[in-house]
Amino acid sequence: MAAPGNGLGPTAIEKGKGGWADWLAPTLILVTPFVNFLTFHNYGLFRPESLLGVAIPVGLGMSASLLMTLWPQIRLPFLPWVVLLRPLVIASAMVILVDFQTGLKTALIGWMSGIFSDGEQYGAITILTFGIVFLLFAAISYALKRNAGIVFTTVFAVILAAIIILPRNIEAQRMIRESDIALPAPATKRSDLPPVVHIILDEQIGLEGIPDDLPGGAALQTDLRDFYIDKGFRVYGAAFSHYHNTADSIANLLNATVRHRRLQFVTPSVFGYTVTENAWLDRLSAQGYRIHVYQTDYLDFCGGKGHRIAKCTTVPATGIAVLEDLEIAASEKAALLISKFSNHSSFRGFGMWLSSYLSGFRSGVEAPSMAEPDRHQQVSLGAAWAKIAAERLIDEFGKVEPGTAYFAHLLLPHRGFILDENCRMKPDLESWYNLPSLGLKSGQRLDEASRQARYIEYFKQVRCAHRVIGQVLEALSRSGVLDEAITIIHGDHGSRIAGLLPLQSHASSLTRTNLTDSSSTLFAIRSPDIPAGYDSSVRSVQALFAELVYGRPIDDERAVVFLTPREDGPDAPFDEIPFPGFE
Ligand SMILES: [Zn+2]
Repeated sequence: MAAPGNGLGPTAIEKGKGGWADWLAPTLILVTPFVNFLTFHNYGLFRPESLLGVAIPVGLGMSASLLMTLWPQIRLPFLPWVVLLRPLVIASAMVILVDFQTGLKTALIGWMSGIFSDGEQYGAITILTFGIVFLLFAAISYALKRNAGIVFTTVFAVILAAIIILPRNIEAQRMIRESDIALPAPATKRSDLPPVVHIILDEQIGLEGIPDDLPGGAALQTDLRDFYIDKGFRVYGAAFSHYHNTADSIANLLNATVRHRRLQFVTPSVFGYTVTENAWLDRLSAQGYRIHVYQTDYLDFCGGKGHRIAKCTTVPATGIAVLEDLEIAASEKAALLISKFSNHSSFRGFGMWLSSYLSGFRSGVEAPSMAEPDRHQQVSLGAAWAKIAAERLIDEFGKVEPGTAYFAHLLLPHRGFILDENCRMKPDLESWYNLPSLGLKSGQRLDEASRQARYIEYFKQVRCAHRVIGQVLEALSRSGVLDEAITIIHGDHGSRIAGLLPLQSHASSLTRTNLTDSSSTLFAIRSPDIPAGYDSSVRSVQALFAELVYGRPIDDERAVVFLTPREDGPDAPFDEIPFPGFE
């Protein structure tokens, strides 16, 4: 006969106390998504800012444990039932976990929409999904009684250990990847082939598109013009791109064509697109060049077919690991990490939707403006990664050999605007700016004050990009190959710091300034066959590349800008409007 009060007696079971495990379960559940976020980004788990960040879910979890230890059950006023706190706490923690595990959440919501709707009602399906997760885990915890703490502690201890210890799919990670591909030696030594250096500066506006009415604009315009002419380039100041989307612009340019549909020559990849058809690399490959690619994981040029690439360096298009080297206080880094992490939450999106809905409602007809733009915490860190790619590129130019072609797509001077003119990450985070271009949905506009504030920071990043180009040219010059090399430097679209973007839904409201902001882009080329100087003809970069590099006219010479269709997606047909040129 069991003696009463031995710890397993009826009193303990009735009270439902779970002991030590109740102090661990909520914390382990809440810590898991943040640890997963850090390891996904290869961010040091034991850095001060990581530990500060982890303190938030730990604090939340411990508070929840304290509550359920003090009041295992509560009686709500006016309600007949007693509420057991443990199932409530564990189910809430599981809802938070699902909310921050984007992959899991997307899968669950996708599954639920398959059952309950045909892709409509995304908000309602999201809320329903969270409701079911809550009820499911509340029921499981209720059924497990005081063992719930032990079960959830064990499960999440194992999951956390697996996250920390197990290797991950390298393709799906935000990290630098470098691959040397062993190619068979070319049949003949191709020392007759001049080196080719082709650098795409993403989001680099053209010289005539630089708004010279804004502080620093006119000086930048003059400096860039002098820079290129002085270095022996022919620079096309009035060049523009038919496309304001990166993949469309670059894929058409490389294939020397102007397609009238979205997303030709590319297929979707983990973080963006793979350029599957690339006539330019095919041509270099066929001529016998050894090709070195420097790219981002947003747009992959190494996964295409038809050409051989000797070396492929990939940096993340965005990702937090570059913050490790930023010289600001650990507490500020922790705030940035938490804020980046919180971008994953649907509740945050719901709050933003609600506030934009309410502000739109208050102002009557006007759609919400971007006067209160997203704060520095949401800024993409792609430019800091681009700087790392650029440094590797410059290193390599110390030993350039004939027969080698370098193709680099740098997210410079691309948003977010985080670098100063010397390419250092600005320690004053208030001067970091994002460009919510892809969030500029139909009807939303960037107001003039926001546009100006962004341009001032963008100009610094443009100067940083050209500091990099200057170093590239110096390195080529030191290698003794600058004069024989073919060097092509161009952008893929404008700064896109535009009041309105060229979307089909904006067709009737677009101004000349909107179009130069989004479509004016740089084109400069240096080759023994092309005289240095300045050319002010209004030509697309796609047409210039076809003519100057392939030596043939493009299939569509008209100065038009394509408008992103309302029903966007691969093969969606473009509408177009004339590109009006410059004042
Ligand atoms: Zn771009």
